[in-house]
Amino acid sequence: MGSRSVILVTLLIIILAGIILFDQLRIGKLEDTLGKIMILSYSGDSLVVYHPMKLEESELFVTPSFVDNFTRYKSPFWDGIRGENRDFQSLINEYVHNRNQDHYGCARSGKGIKRIHEGIDLFVPENTEVYPLGDYGVVIDVSHNPNHLEWVEGENAKGEPDSVQVEYGKIVKVLYPEGLVSTYVHLNEVYVAIGDEVHGDTVLGLTGVTGNLLRSGKASHLHLELRYLDGSSFDPRHRLHYRGTSFGDFVKMLKL
Ligand SMILES: [Zn+2]
Repeated sequence: MGSRSVILVTLLIIILAGIILFDQLRIGKLEDTLGKIMILSYSGDSLVVYHPMKLEESELFVTPSFVDNFTRYKSPFWDGIRGENRDFQSLINEYVHNRNQDHYGCARSGKGIKRIHEGIDLFVPENTEVYPLGDYGVVIDVSHNPNHLEWVEGENAKGEPDSVQVEYGKIVKVLYPEGLVSTYVHLNEVYVAIGDEVHGDTVLGLTGVTGNLLRSGKASHLHLELRYLDGSSFDPRHRLHYRGTSFGDFVKMLKL
């Protein structure tokens, strides 16, 4: 091989190396650009974001309609109120018999412990079907035992915080996306199991006379409790709305 050929080959190698280097830089720049691109898509009523560099992963963006669907509560019964533009108070007006006994916060005592009634008693016919309060939830507890006991907080004779076991009977507890838990108490039948995903039309069970109703002589009713995830209970009248403000309307008002 002559010296001219050596120069030519060297030149070719340099040119090739240059092309490869240039391509590498271009690929690096393209990858940078791809990394910044987001692909928007819909899943159900929510916005989903994909990144081209990692298509297997997606991010879920919560939309106003998603928030509205999962924070709108309904009657536990398949009655005229369900889904209508009324609030929890109207449910109470219809099914609470005795304002001094059936409401949240009424005084209760037993076994030397003073406590409050941590639910509302809704008097519907025995064996009335009960439904989740929202369109989506997960069953986090059930009991098929008609004498099932639950620990409840109260105050002892010295005025100190104390707890006592109360007969709840057959129960179902449903957790909603917002972090609220509803407990259906004194049921005759339980149709769901722990871990079940439930929807607005899932029959959880039937109202009945289990737990302390077996001996109290009280008529069959649904004792419905609402609690936060830390276990503290609250009065549904001040917290639950079937159809209150819409998150979508709120966003529009912000003029984003
Ligand atoms: Zn009750």
